[in-house]
Amino acid sequence: MTVTENLAKIEANIRQACNKVGRDPQDITIIGVTKYVTIERALETIYSGIRHLGENRMEGLLEKHQVIGEKAIWHFIGTLQSRKVKDIINQVSYIHSLDRKSLAKEINKRTDEPVDCFIQVNVSGEESKHGLQPDNVVEFVDTLQNYPNIRVVGLMTMAPHVEDESVLREVFKSLRQLRDSIQEKEWGHAPCQYLSMGMSNDYQLAIEEGATHIRIGSSLVGPYEE
Ligand SMILES: *Cc1c(COP(=O)(O)O)cnc(C)c1O
Repeated sequence: MTVTENLAKIEANIRQACNKVGRDPQDITIIGVTKYVTIERALETIYSGIRHLGENRMEGLLEKHQVIGEKAIWHFIGTLQSRKVKDIINQVSYIHSLDRKSLAKEINKRTDEPVDCFIQVNVSGEESKHGLQPDNVVEFVDTLQNYPNIRVVGLMTMAPHVEDESVLREVFKSLRQLRDSIQEKEWGHAPCQYLSMGMSNDYQLAIEEGATHIRIGSSLVGPYEE
């Protein structure tokens, strides 16, 4: 399948999910996750009309950025080690995995202009997952006022790998409620308008529950062998 064919299906699903809850498909940003695929396939993704690309490892990001550069808007979606911040900070527009003060401090130090960050939240509480516990998020965002180069544009989560729709919905809904409670504070450093949630298996549900950014890998850029 070409990326364009995959994208047509995804866009139809997005329209359907939006229709169900009265949302505008224009408000959904698709981040094409290219971590498994070649530079050629990532370029094909850009030519299909996708503007946003996501990578979860520094090496993959730099390799693709070198070729694709400013044709894409880059999102770093993986776990970020503080010592690697300086290597990617000028290549990315968004970081989706801010989850600790030491990382905020490093980002703040390595850039001259505010970086748009999502706070990663471990809503499901699985031990294997990164991210802050939901109870600690508001306080964490509050402390980020000390770092003028961090702008909190939203929250991000990864849902558990389960089939049960009600479990997934609960996770997405919790993230939205948490986002709303931060927005209510009207903090200048944390407009927190976005929700980065939903992947290939669950993006329709995520949209129904308020996702603004969906991170789609396999169903957009797969199958990997052509
Ligand atoms: C790989 C990855 C995705 C995309 O996963 P698919 O199931 O292939 O759509 C989304 N978000 C993160 C953080 C990822 O690492």
